[in-house]
Formats: sequence, structure tokens, C-alpha cells
Amino acid sequence: MLATVAKTATNSGRRLCKGSPMGGSQTGRRGGSRPANRYELLSCAIGGHVLVGADAASVAAADAALVRETDGLRWPRCLRCDGWEPKPPPAAPTRDTAPGREEIDLPLRGPLLRDRYVLRLIAVDRAIHVVVLTVLAVIIFVFIGNRHTLQHDYNEIMAALTGGPNKQDELTGLLGYFRHLFLIKPSHLYWAGLLVVGYAVLEATEMVGLWLAKRWAEYLTFVATVLLVPFEVYEMVESFGFLKLVTFLVNVAIAVYLLFAKRLFGVRGGHAAEHRRRVELGGWAALDRATPDPPVGARRHAERAVGTSTA
Ligand SMILES: [Zn+2]
Repeated sequence: MLATVAKTATNSGRRLCKGSPMGGSQTGRRGGSRPANRYELLSCAIGGHVLVGADAASVAAADAALVRETDGLRWPRCLRCDGWEPKPPPAAPTRDTAPGREEIDLPLRGPLLRDRYVLRLIAVDRAIHVVVLTVLAVIIFVFIGNRHTLQHDYNEIMAALTGGPNKQDELTGLLGYFRHLFLIKPSHLYWAGLLVVGYAVLEATEMVGLWLAKRWAEYLTFVATVLLVPFEVYEMVESFGFLKLVTFLVNVAIAVYLLFAKRLFGVRGGHAAEHRRRVELGGWAALDRATPDPPVGARRHAERAVGTSTA
């Protein structure tokens, strides 16, 4: 059960050293300064390590992938970032043995965790859209509801600024744009407001689905994004702007990522290939592949760890 794991999760990420006595470098650096398991480390820094077996009365050799005991120290392994955290054996165990694999919901790790981060980044992008569209819709409907009052006030202010009531045609820039708003038919503004609300609902649906990593949300986001690309190109051709270019590039990148990385519409083997990938990278086999053999020098490291923790 996940609850079994969560009970023993800690926030002591900094206590996990690079070279644990449980074998090899646990940060998985690949030549550069960034560790290979940086997404796991980030998740653990935010939510704590996912440890099991720290609260068990005894540890069996069969639990070596989850928790080990060496020279009086208990070493539960973080099932997400592969760090081994030294602890004294529990003074008051809450269970007899470490939980079986059938009791544990493995956390996301490796490429699957990276995928989750990318999807949530897109969800954040959609959240920003939702906020902007909601504000725009509120402005439109408030404008429609108070049109006459606003137009009266606008005319008075502009007459004062321009020196007369008949010079508003000379206004350019933002002030001229406001004048243009009063020339739009209320029915057109109403439909424009409904269109903005509908678009905000669509973006909110994408946001929630992507945050929860739903397959349908990947399709919905791809289709909605691609359908808007022609309009974005048209907008840029009509009136180029840096923000429009950035929005266009971000949306193209999102569409390409979803199509190829998430294998939509049968691309790169489609859903079946994606399912096989998730089984291969997300199951116990992946954890076992990353499990080091117990090291020969475990005793020496353990003794040093005890000395450090009591210093
Ligand atoms: Zn961890």
C-alpha cells in the first residue's frame, strides 16, 4: 500500500551521500555536473524520500532491493532516487517484516518521472492561459453590462484630454483602441466573450487532464494546439510581435513533444509501444536493474556513517 510507504518517507534528502556503502554512486552522474536522477532528487526534495522497511522488526536477505541491515545499521532505500539512508534499527517496530512488493505502489522514476514533469509544465502553461482568458472574459462581460456608463465617462475624459468633443478620431494608440471598442456591436462582443469562456474551459480541461497524466488530455491538447497554429501564423503575418512568436514556438514544441514522445496516433508504435515502455521503465524490473550488489566494504562505510551521525 502506498500508505505503508508514505509513513516512512522523510525530507532528509541531504543526508543521502553520493557514495552510499550500499554500493556505487547513488547520484548517477553521467560525466557532467547534473545527476542522471535529478528529477527523482527534485521530487524527493519536495515530497521526501520513499523508504520502506525502516519500521520493520527484522530485515530479510530477500528484501535487499528495499532495505538492508549491516553492522547494526538499517539502510532503507529510497524507491524513487535510489539513495540509501542510514538509520538505527527501530526501537519500537510497527511491523514484523518489510512490506512485500504487492503492498508497495512504486513511485515514478527515470524517464517516466521526466515525462510527468514535462506534462505538468505544459499544465502550468495551460493554467496561465486559463487565468488570462478568465480575466479577459470578465472584462468583456463587465464592459457589455456597463457599456453606456463607460462610454459616457470615456467621452468626458477624452474631451477633457483633447480639448473638445469632436477630436476623438485623432486619438491613436491605447486610447484610440478603447474608442474602437465602443464601436463594436454589443452582440458581437457577447459572442466574443462566449468564445473566450469556451476557450478557457478547453484550456482548463487540458490543464487538469495533463496534471493527472491522462492519455485523453494528451490527445486533446495536441488537437487543440495544432488547430490554433494556422491562426497564430496568420496573426504573426498580420502583425508581428515577440510574444506571438514565443507563443507560437512553445505551442509547436508542445505539439511535437506530444506527438512523438507520447506516441500519439500510432506514431513510434503508438499506445502499445508506450504501454510496453511504461512496464519496462516503471515496474519492479527497472528497480531491480538499478539495485546494486551489497558491497564488500560495507562495514567500513557503516562505521564512518555512525561516527558522522554522532559527531
Ligand atoms: Zn529519494
